[in-house]
Amino acid sequence: MSLALPFDNSYGRLPNRFYTRMAPAPVALPAMLALNVPLAGRLGIDADALATPEGVSVLAGNAVPDGADPLAQVYAGHQFGGWSPQLGDGRAILLGEIVAPDGARFDIQLKGSGRTPYSRMGDGRAWLGPVLREYIVSEAMAALGVPTTRALAAVTTGETVFREAPLPGAVLTRVAASHIRVGTFQYFFARGDHEALDALVNHAIQRHAQGADGPLGLLNHVVERQAMLVAAWLGIGFIHGVMNTDNMTVSGETIDYGPCAFMDDFSPMRVFSSIDHQGRYAYSRQPDIAMWNLAQLATALLPLIDDVKDAQAAVDRFPALFRDAWLTVFRAKLGLQAADEGDEELILALLDAMAKGKADFTNTFRSLGTLKARDAFSDPELYDAWENSWKERLGKESAVPDDRAGTMHAANPALIPRNHRIEQAIQAAVAGDLSPFRHLSAALLAPYSDQGEFADLANPPTESEVVCQTFCGT
Ligand code: AMP
Ligand code: MG
Repeated sequence: MSLALPFDNSYGRLPNRFYTRMAPAPVALPAMLALNVPLAGRLGIDADALATPEGVSVLAGNAVPDGADPLAQVYAGHQFGGWSPQLGDGRAILLGEIVAPDGARFDIQLKGSGRTPYSRMGDGRAWLGPVLREYIVSEAMAALGVPTTRALAAVTTGETVFREAPLPGAVLTRVAASHIRVGTFQYFFARGDHEALDALVNHAIQRHAQGADGPLGLLNHVVERQAMLVAAWLGIGFIHGVMNTDNMTVSGETIDYGPCAFMDDFSPMRVFSSIDHQGRYAYSRQPDIAMWNLAQLATALLPLIDDVKDAQAAVDRFPALFRDAWLTVFRAKLGLQAADEGDEELILALLDAMAKGKADFTNTFRSLGTLKARDAFSDPELYDAWENSWKERLGKESAVPDDRAGTMHAANPALIPRNHRIEQAIQAAVAGDLSPFRHLSAALLAPYSDQGEFADLANPPTESEVVCQTFCGT
């Protein structure tokens, strides 16, 4: 069986200054670790062919498939608010774009594929931990219904990567609507390269915002996508952890799962990333940061926008769009179908009680539908007071669903990839045991279902299991 990938590489048709054309660096001994068969099907790729030695060799970067046009993309970005004029794919290679049977276009990228001109001090490699973390979390996000890049495969390289310790090397095959970042626009803006900026705008509109009217139309589109994305994150207790402008896409997909984490007990200022000393990217700061990043995008587009006020107005739409999206998400979580002016206060009151009562974010919302949420609170009386106001509000709903618990379950997952489970899966995998990774991945295919065989994964961590810090993928 031979591997045929339906490549059509539009990014590679952009001018040379958008990338460095180069093949991935080969690895010593590639071996398949995980293959996402349903995703291969969705992309129109023969999963059996990917599993052959020829396929594994492609997924490891040892062979370049027919039709690929491998390149490393250049971009820039604000990292923790500080400007970096040149970043880029320092450990990734875009093999090219494929067009799926339904016409949708996807980037196929290898992450961990060796040094590029943008590697700076890095080795261009990834170790097993971040590769499995991204595989687990990005696939969970997809199953949760959150826009995200995907993981098609993970392979081990047979090579050792040196971090604080020698670790097994791995390569992730990432699938994305595109890898165009806010930082890609910033790169050309900072160089005064308005011709490139214009080409990038047209390319991005073609891929993500067909029908959008020029740079301003694109900006408005990105503002809308990001408002919905961040609202979806908050609705599942997700903390991205490193919302630098180079880690924000114009497609509206979540990207770059480095130090990300889902919260267990709710705390609005929760931070996991080991390098986020100021709490810049804390859970509840994410909407403000998204708007800050969008302001950077608007700035980068200014040379192409006639009136600065229009760019400002586009960014200024964000708070109201976000608030609407957030209310929609949380109303559904509370089983509310209509809108009432007191809803924001009601939602915030629950979150406040959850923070005071150290209530588990996921389990509290999941058990609201069956009226068992009070058990999630250290001090259940904090919940009782709130429940009265919620019941009163439910009484105002004109349509009473036959199965409110069922409707609420569709908005409140039973399972999220808890940090301690990810850590356990990684540690076992490093020791050669992939069963915890497979158990977790299988469970997260259906996060909104009650699955008895995965009940262990719904439990918050015990005191000794709690993971307080996460690390960038480097
Ligand atoms: P991140 O914040 O993880 O998205 O990475 C920020 C920048 O560092 C990107 O330009 C990456 O390509 C680069 N980078 C991260 N890890 C490595 C590595 N091991 N080798 C080379 N470059 C890296
Ligand atoms: Mg990044």
